Amino acid sequence: MSGMSFLLVLPAILLFAVFLDLTTGGIEENSRVLGSGAVSNTAKDLKADIMVAGKEVLKSEADSVVSSGTPLSNSRAVIKADLQTKMDQMVQDYEDNSGMEVDCNITSVGNSEDPFAVQVNSTIYVGKGNITHWEFVSQDIPLTDPQYPIPNPLPFIKCKGHGGIQVVNNKIAFGSTLVNYLEKRGVENAFAYENSTTAFIIKKCPYDPYIMHGTNNNTLKNCIDNGYFHESADGPCFLCRLEGHGTCPHYGMETFIVPCSSANTSVNSSNSSTNFTYNTAPSSIDHVIFDETYNSTYQGYRLIYYFDGVNLLILYLDNAHRQKYGFPTS
Ligand SMILES: [Zn+2]
Ligand SMILES: [Zn+2]
Repeated sequence: MSGMSFLLVLPAILLFAVFLDLTTGGIEENSRVLGSGAVSNTAKDLKADIMVAGKEVLKSEADSVVSSGTPLSNSRAVIKADLQTKMDQMVQDYEDNSGMEVDCNITSVGNSEDPFAVQVNSTIYVGKGNITHWEFVSQDIPLTDPQYPIPNPLPFIKCKGHGGIQVVNNKIAFGSTLVNYLEKRGVENAFAYENSTTAFIIKKCPYDPYIMHGTNNNTLKNCIDNGYFHESADGPCFLCRLEGHGTCPHYGMETFIVPCSSANTSVNSSNSSTNFTYNTAPSSIDHVIFDETYNSTYQGYRLIYYFDGVNLLILYLDNAHRQKYGFPTS
């Protein structure tokens, strides 16, 4: 090639070089985007994994307290450790399968603003090549996912050593156990709770505002039949229930403890007698019955909340709870 012809093709060579550079640059950019997609997808998957593992851990700790009757000494620490163990296994699987560097650190477990959830805080790190993702994550793990039914552990802790309690048709059936428990504490008219029942699985009551319970003949009956729980400033939170506390400083929940009536005799194995002789008895709210601080199990007045000519259903309710649920005070 002569000097002259080289000069003629030079612009073409230069143009091609620029084109090559653009193309390879484009490829690099593209793989960078792909890499960051894989990293951020893994971070997203880890967050979903914490939700599922969280529900499994909450359920399994509540189940084990139900079967042992033994409270956890520090429910937050136990749940945090269980969850970390589960996440460590998953992190290992991600690293083995993707070649990414993955880290998930459960930093704390505590109360959520919603009493029907538990808050889990964590940090997530995912890295591959020069793409890294670090995130602080705060999640509310719901207690009320029907796929992970979580039982109320408190009655099993409180009634341990006072006679057995059974679970029949998704209700806790106390037999004579609750009477024994209350009588040992010197609570008046404890016998009103012979063969009483209460909710087993934690479910959130849909009748909100709660005063609706008293405005329709069937609402409280439906609520009790379904075993619903209600938000309560006085009722213990789920984490404190696992520790056996009948009351706690956190915003919590409450459910009814229902005296025996002609409608729920089917769950009573030993004694089907009904007892409507009391005008007052301990208020039929679980945190009132299970609050063991001095003189805290206060009395309520008899309330017939349903009568269809055959079934007569009663609760004992104090004035504050009558107001909360929309019933006339006495
Ligand atoms: Zn309700
Ligand atoms: Zn609490």
